[in-house]
Amino acid sequence: MDEKTLLEQLNKFTRKELSVEEVYIFPVTLCDNEIDRDNERFSRKSLDELAEKFIGVTGIFDHNPKGENQTARIFLTEVVEEERSNSLGEKYAYLKGYAYMVRTDSNADLIREIDGGIKKEVSVSCSAEKQICSVCGADRRVKPCRHVKGRKYDGKRCFFTLDDISDAYEWSFVAVPAQVCAGVTKSFEKPETPAFSRSEKEAMINRALMLKSPDGTAKKLFDCIKDALGDDELEQLCRNFSAASTVKSCDEYKM
Ligand SMILES: [Zn+2]
Repeated sequence: MDEKTLLEQLNKFTRKELSVEEVYIFPVTLCDNEIDRDNERFSRKSLDELAEKFIGVTGIFDHNPKGENQTARIFLTEVVEEERSNSLGEKYAYLKGYAYMVRTDSNADLIREIDGGIKKEVSVSCSAEKQICSVCGADRRVKPCRHVKGRKYDGKRCFFTLDDISDAYEWSFVAVPAQVCAGVTKSFEKPETPAFSRSEKEAMINRALMLKSPDGTAKKLFDCIKDALGDDELEQLCRNFSAASTVKSCDEYKM
């Protein structure tokens, strides 16, 4: 897409018409239809749903210590299909977003970093109504089955497909090592189901804390106090932090 078309699209979003000198536009790969390291994937349909819902959504640059004006907004999205297949034999597709920042003195360094091709993990936070088990086809949001994702059944690895996206909350660049932020913060939109164990709740809170505070200070603090928390307190914390969202660490940032 050329610069002029992008700028026209962008200006549909802004109160004041911005010139090409005033804005910084960059593409970002948000997620794809491949099974990720959490043994979860978005369906092709959910990518289309996400494409619609991510327009206008703000992104955060978690790694920036200054934290001021370090946000960008997606103003255009497209689902890009590639010739190759994903591991399920479907056409590989990914959701590409175009984001913008209004250039200021305080984000000049960040823009230079992005221009320099920093590779960062992008995580997206969204809410999926369905979570389909690959082994038995059960929607785990409605009726949890016994299958454990990542485990093999008759030689096939179990994974969950996320479908029916109801909302997209935010996207962020995270600088923490992949294995730390890898993971899904489970949704608590339907608090009556399913019941998570104490250690699962602790793991969810830890993941949410690492996304909010990648240097690990919040997680350390939580580690110190978690044993003193009652079940209700832990449940409450878990709900507050996961805020009915599914946080996916999907893909590397691609230009
Ligand atoms: Zn199942």
